[in-house]
Amino acid sequence: PLETTANIWHNGKLIPWEKANIHVMSHVIHYGSSVFEGIRCYTQPEGASIFRLHEHMKRLINSAKIYRMPLPYDVEQLNSAVIEVVEANGVAPCYVRPIAFRGYGEIGVNPLKSPVEVYIANFPWGKYVPGDGGADVCISSWNRLAPNTMPSLAKAGANYMNSQLIRMEADINGYSEGIALDVNGYLSEGSGENLFIVRDGTLYTTPLANSVLNGITRDSILVLARQLGIPVVEQALPRELLYICDEAFFTGTAAEVTHLRSVDRIMVGDGKMGPITSALHKAFFDVVNGLAPDRYNWLTPVKVR
Ligand code: PMP
Repeated sequence: PLETTANIWHNGKLIPWEKANIHVMSHVIHYGSSVFEGIRCYTQPEGASIFRLHEHMKRLINSAKIYRMPLPYDVEQLNSAVIEVVEANGVAPCYVRPIAFRGYGEIGVNPLKSPVEVYIANFPWGKYVPGDGGADVCISSWNRLAPNTMPSLAKAGANYMNSQLIRMEADINGYSEGIALDVNGYLSEGSGENLFIVRDGTLYTTPLANSVLNGITRDSILVLARQLGIPVVEQALPRELLYICDEAFFTGTAAEVTHLRSVDRIMVGDGKMGPITSALHKAFFDVVNGLAPDRYNWLTPVKVR
């Protein structure tokens, strides 16, 4: 069950968690007209900070732009709103969920006449992809969103119907997550994670053209890999590369850096977290836990008791 906090930010004000309700005839309920973010707030020895807040809010604004959804707030105002609700609730570490959607107004498909509502909640949330010692995943029978159908670069609620099919199928078949191929049969991403592969010392990830979300953790790992001198290639990747690679891992705000132990019951390397994944995992957690300098200004401090 979801752990609650005291306040939720709604259109500029903090309201009690229990009062953050919407009408069943709201546009979003019927047609999935929402865009959202998932952000983590980590604790460091000297306090708490939100990871890459600015980039997340920029992506929220861009998701809204793709769907012609006018947000009455700019990045700076949204950043302040996140800080306000996190500080008011006083819970860290935590997960932050900003969401904007078409509310109660018209009930036709055209969203343009329904009001835009913005909410920001935060709550404690731990490990996301199950599996201690690595995730056992499958290739999904479902494809990821085809180009020019549902835009993958928008983090829109409706995209997660596709994610739900992938995740349910994996779960029912005893896997912790599914990886979907794009409509051309190339590797795409997990239901809520970007995918990385290591082979012969080179780090590979699927490019944005292969129906993936422009993950902020993905970007962070690319930056850290370059910092560590690991060669990085973004290119279309065949499915079978996963069966013969040395290492593979997921990245995501919820999943953080989770190594894959097996794919379709074929062991990835020796099943353990390999050296390049370990180096990137450490580099990532050192930054978010405040054990390494924040060289890229990824951390926004918040005052949480
Ligand atoms: N792909 C999908 C489909 C996702 O839902 C997420 C989680 N937001 C990601 C990738 C990873 O993105 P990020 O690192 O920004 O959380």
